[in-house]
Amino acid sequence: MAQLLTATPIVDEHHVDRRRYPHGVAFIDGQYLPMSEAKISVLDWGFLHSDATYDTVHVWNGRFFRLDLHLDRFWRGVERLRMKLPHDREKIASILNNCVALSGHKSAYVEMICTRGSSPTFSRDPRQAENRFIAFAVPFGSVANREQLERGLHVAISETVRIPPTSVDPAIKNYHWLDLVKGLFDAYDMGAETALIVDTNGHIAEGPGFNVFVVRDGFLRTPAFGVLPGITRRTVFDLCAQAGLSATAADISRTEIKAADEVFITSTAGGIMPVTCIDGAAIANGQVGPVTRRLMDLYWQKHTDPQWSTAVEYP
Ligand code: PLP
Repeated sequence: MAQLLTATPIVDEHHVDRRRYPHGVAFIDGQYLPMSEAKISVLDWGFLHSDATYDTVHVWNGRFFRLDLHLDRFWRGVERLRMKLPHDREKIASILNNCVALSGHKSAYVEMICTRGSSPTFSRDPRQAENRFIAFAVPFGSVANREQLERGLHVAISETVRIPPTSVDPAIKNYHWLDLVKGLFDAYDMGAETALIVDTNGHIAEGPGFNVFVVRDGFLRTPAFGVLPGITRRTVFDLCAQAGLSATAADISRTEIKAADEVFITSTAGGIMPVTCIDGAAIANGQVGPVTRRLMDLYWQKHTDPQWSTAVEYP
């Protein structure tokens, strides 16, 4: 496999320019392939109707972080969408490991996907579709870059309403991102770096690929309604329990978030990331706060703890 990846030309026989793909390895239809060769049919309902669920776990310094929690969430999503995975949990864990190991990445962004697939007879009945499992490992990526992690992100709150949970259950991790992408464009128009969008009651919901927390008088709060129960969000609850901090899930209004002592966002893509400016106004004194810094430190320390992380088996 390593040979296959290095010996291949920059432009392959299908005229695909490999430089347009991140270095990585995908598993699709039973094969491990370079990212540039991992293709699905345009007739797959995952593509045509966003009929898919997925999960993303990261590898940091050669260790998966909280892989079991990501697999649990993925399994729940697949079951609730009435899909069937072609492999058991152990096999999927080993496929994820192999994608990372074959890519050679020590820090990676690893995605597992189940799409509805398509029916061999082109039936419109989703029960007749053959579900498809895909996985891949590419270099680790973060919502916030190094500079933003140092000084805190600048965020704008968009008027865009997150798709209601009665329409699409946010606990099933999904690609229904038109609201989040619209929020991002709104944020760019407002001169910000990323967005928060609101729930159907006008409270703060989440952003493109992250949950949000506020800290006020030492207490942490994160939205409870209409959001993906993020694994990093859950990790913040676990860290708070260990550190003796109080954290709850409850509504946060626009006024409350702007009056917070500290704000941070959470994602597998970057961990715990500070926010120091919302809608052009500084949060507190505009500096990254002490609770955020402490949680960021604890979060990365846990990446070497065998109770929270699993070693990748490289060849
Ligand atoms: N909210 C949304 C909509 C997401 O897509 C994500 C991650 O991709 C998150 C929150 C954060 O979840 P996690 O901490 O599990 O990465």
